[in-house]
Amino acid sequence: MAQSDPDLSEFFELGIWAQRARKMKPCPLGDVMKTLNKKDTSVLLAAFDSGQVKPGWIVSWCSRRGAQGLSPTHIVNHRKGVCRCVLGD
Ligand SMILES: [Zn+2]
Repeated sequence: MAQSDPDLSEFFELGIWAQRARKMKPCPLGDVMKTLNKKDTSVLLAAFDSGQVKPGWIVSWCSRRGAQGLSPTHIVNHRKGVCRCVLGD
């Protein structure tokens, strides 16, 4: 009687997540948003959704509100959803 192969799919699933987490870029935007008030947060979220707002503009906007060390690349990654914000850490 042939024994069915043990199911390893859970390991592969974990591997995919570990791989994704490694590829995900660290992102300071989550921390920036924690420091913003409600109004600024909604403005920023709208800016992310708007294709007309350039990443550099968002960097300037954030630095006016005290956020240092942001780069347009952070904005681009955040928009694409390839930053760690989506993993919730
Ligand atoms: Zn992010």
